[in-house]
Amino acid sequence: MLFLRVLALKMDIQTLFIVNIALGFVLALCVLVVAIGRNKQLYLWAIAFVMHGMSYILISLRGQIPDLLSIVLANLLISSMLAIFTEGIYRFSEMRPPRLLIWWPALVTVITFWFYIDNFEMRVIIGAAFSVYQTGLLVWSIARDFHERSGQGRWIIIFAAGITTAMFVFRAGVALTGDNLLLAITSSSPVQSITFIGAMVGLIMFAFGLLVIYMEKAEQVGLSLALRDPLTQLGNRRVLDIALNYAMSRGKVKAVSALIMLDLDKFKTLNDNYGHAMGDQLLIEVAYRIKESVKAEDTVVRLGGDEFVILVIDIGNDLTGARTKAATVANRILQQVAKPYHLLAQLENQPMSPLKYECTCSIGVSLFQGHSTSREIVMERADVAMYKAKQEGRDRVVFAEGEAAS
Ligand code: GH3
Ligand code: MG
Repeated sequence: MLFLRVLALKMDIQTLFIVNIALGFVLALCVLVVAIGRNKQLYLWAIAFVMHGMSYILISLRGQIPDLLSIVLANLLISSMLAIFTEGIYRFSEMRPPRLLIWWPALVTVITFWFYIDNFEMRVIIGAAFSVYQTGLLVWSIARDFHERSGQGRWIIIFAAGITTAMFVFRAGVALTGDNLLLAITSSSPVQSITFIGAMVGLIMFAFGLLVIYMEKAEQVGLSLALRDPLTQLGNRRVLDIALNYAMSRGKVKAVSALIMLDLDKFKTLNDNYGHAMGDQLLIEVAYRIKESVKAEDTVVRLGGDEFVILVIDIGNDLTGARTKAATVANRILQQVAKPYHLLAQLENQPMSPLKYECTCSIGVSLFQGHSTSREIVMERADVAMYKAKQEGRDRVVFAEGEAAS
């Protein structure tokens, strides 16, 4: 009770209005500054914060402007703000937002608030019910794919939604007791103080949570760019390092894994005769064929140029059996890569035309057991085997230490 009295004593309603309005616009400005040149999504969120500021301006003008504006429009803005937050979460997760589920409260707010324009209690209760639904939907939109995309930003938004819900439910509870004076727009009551502070804290947390989500997403994109070969969309050398470390560090000393190193034969000829773009087409197609020839859990990377590496882990506990399995995989890849390609050629002063092209590859395979050897040695051995395959006439698989695959 002392806490409530202190709030009543300190919190002047006019001040609370001004702070809330200012907060909406300041947050909008901050989000806008972050958004410029970065992400269109954030513009939408900036608009949501402007809506908060605008709604409090309209509410504060109750009696001086038509009720249609200070009641109906103000609540439409609050409802739309929550809808925009939910839309934003969906779009950030690259999911199509369920428009009807998100926006119906905004539409129905206009009708019901117009209808109950003279019934204060009903408006508070209906407003609370809609807000509980909207914040619930917001939390659900975050929670539904939580196992796939965790992150602190989401927790902050859930907290913000919780505070906002609590604030609306609290107001509805007071309205149900019938003490409307406590909720009156001109009253500097503890209830109003709690409502306004709740709204401010919720808003700050929404803004902060949204920016954290944005940063986390940017981090994810940056990480995936740093790990991906831009031409073929396969992983790059770093991915191979990570996968090799993983294969070697699991303590399964006996489990045999195979590192398959592949280099296209006479690839330069294609580049020289038809241009770099044709070479790129072939590399993309080769990457696709390799990916299709192995299991989803196997790692396929492009080391650079026309060189690819495939890491197949845990192919048995004895070397002989593992060698047979690795040979099967390597030969399957060899056959797939050797099938004819249908490329689109653009020769000088001629229209684009299809070009049938054939290209083989040379493969070196190095087997290893757990962490019995180092990453560098495994790579080196596969590399030596691959060059041996080149020397022996190309279009073949050679195992490290001179052991032939078939
Ligand atoms: P070998 O059978 O001995 O491997 O002959 P090769 O012609 O394939 O020779 P090598 O593997 O050394 O040549 C790789 C060539 O790949 C060299 C370079 O011109 C070309 N290259 C490297 N990166 C790219 C790329 O991103 N796109 C295209 N189109 N070509 C590339
Ligand atoms: Mg080559």
